Amino acid sequence: DIVVLRLGHRPERDSRVTTHVGLTSRVLGATGMLLTSDDKSVRESIDRVVKAWGGDFWVKTGISYRSEIKKWKESGGIVVHLTMYGINMPDCIDEIRERFRTESVMIVVGAEKVPGDVYELSDYNVAIGNQPHSEIAALALFLDRLQEGRTLTGDFIGGELKIVPSEHGKTVLKK
Ligand code: SAM
Repeated sequence: DIVVLRLGHRPERDSRVTTHVGLTSRVLGATGMLLTSDDKSVRESIDRVVKAWGGDFWVKTGISYRSEIKKWKESGGIVVHLTMYGINMPDCIDEIRERFRTESVMIVVGAEKVPGDVYELSDYNVAIGNQPHSEIAALALFLDRLQEGRTLTGDFIGGELKIVPSEHGKTVLKK
């Protein structure tokens, strides 16, 4: 099981990026997203996508990151915080992937400045390259390397629409 925790979202600035964090998590195999912010618009956007395109990805808003991280660890899961200050992914991904065979993974991404205790509470602080870039890109690369590309081929159960891949144009089936 994989869950993504999104920290420190400022509704006026980060709604679109947070929605993309959720959509990227969904398509790359996470089961849900926890949001410290109380921004309901993100959940509404993602719920609309889930209704149309299937699966059961969930979004929970207004959570406390400290208690969610503690609960996750108490139930035997591991916590990976994505940060440019961490250990570069090529140097730690094999160990994390090995643990992921038997343990659930929570992935924490920030928006603005990340509170200092997140670095302590996390089992792994992982950099997707030790340079600043984007939480969406960092998350996509980490999810892909963790699962070795396996997530792009599965179907989503339910929903109303399904794409028939085509070389040219758009073909969408109503289920
Ligand atoms: N300035 C903030 C800080 O110092 O904590 C980070 C801002 S950054 C735009 C937002 C998020 O993107 C970070 O919290 C982190 O999760 C992710 N991020 C950005 N660059 C990253 C990198 N090289 N490796 C892993 N995560 C990264």
